[in-house]
Amino acid sequence: MNILFKNCTAEEIKEKFSAFGTEISSRLAMRIQGYIFKNDSFPSNLTETAPSLLSKINENAIYPNLTLLSKETSQTDMFAKYLFRGSDPEVFESVRIPVPTGKYPGYIICVSSQAGCSLGCAFCATGKLGFKRNLETWEIVDQVLKIKMDSDKPIKGIVFMGMGEPLLNVDNVLKAINIFTEPCGMAISSKAITVSTSGIPDGIRKFINYGKNCRLILSLTSAIPEKRKLVMPIEKIHPIQEILPLLKEYSLKRNERMTLAWTLISGFNTGENDALTLKNISEALPIKLDLIDVNDSSSRFSPPDDDERNQFIDYIRKHCDIPVSRRYSGGKDISASCGMLAGGTTDKGSEPKK
Ligand code: SF4
Repeated sequence: MNILFKNCTAEEIKEKFSAFGTEISSRLAMRIQGYIFKNDSFPSNLTETAPSLLSKINENAIYPNLTLLSKETSQTDMFAKYLFRGSDPEVFESVRIPVPTGKYPGYIICVSSQAGCSLGCAFCATGKLGFKRNLETWEIVDQVLKIKMDSDKPIKGIVFMGMGEPLLNVDNVLKAINIFTEPCGMAISSKAITVSTSGIPDGIRKFINYGKNCRLILSLTSAIPEKRKLVMPIEKIHPIQEILPLLKEYSLKRNERMTLAWTLISGFNTGENDALTLKNISEALPIKLDLIDVNDSSSRFSPPDDDERNQFIDYIRKHCDIPVSRRYSGGKDISASCGMLAGGTTDKGSEPKK
């Protein structure tokens, strides 16, 4: 038998061994997982564990590792970008985001869920790569584990905002979250885990029915369907009107506002009509708006200047009674900001329509 430890919770490891006729206690499974997520290695000895049993477990354990191909650290804000290779030649990136505020500084890790992406959002470098493959659970888990081992401060949270659409790989993403939140392992609070989607109905349904208290964010960028289609082709397949009832269900279940992300593109989605159209959504659903300046490596799209951005915020306040915040997206100098992850390549996509 072969059991891939980084693919399983401690309880799943116990069950797998049991299915193959080797009984191990839940406590031992948790101790091994605890050791792995502290040391990123398999224990060669454990107190109170017979060496023969540990050696039998070890013989049946598979312990793959991501290969770190490069790491770059921003000179302006200390964001760090890691380029990894997993079980085949495809590569993917993760970003370590410093959280310097408060009594307990640490890091948030932005992870990838796919190598490449099939959805082709016009403002995103990953979208230009096309879809390569879904990442396996262990490849998602190991991004955080490798970065944790490289870090001087604890990991405080995880955001699925790296390469790929997480809800098109929803089963592996939810399995990875099970592992991240295990108290015996990395022990990351489910409240500190955020999944960002462009709007995949089946995945949102699974996410709603998932038992943990993680947060979902929908990338909207325009509430005008024809406009959204130009930059987010997913609108042609799953229009926002199809997604809204699901978001309402999610929002009711959690008793909180749904966060909608809005990538600000100068001259494209910052006008009064853009705010006015958002009003329809805000009346159907309790929302808050997260504004992110576009980061386009190829300079086809530009972010608004302060005046344009402030004017758009005024329009929102005039037409929609909703909270608005700005998300800082750092690491620009190392192409680690939202929309810039290109798997170590340079984004030289075609001219988008506006
Ligand atoms: S923004 Fe997200 S969903 Fe859109 S192409 Fe990029 S990775 Fe894919």
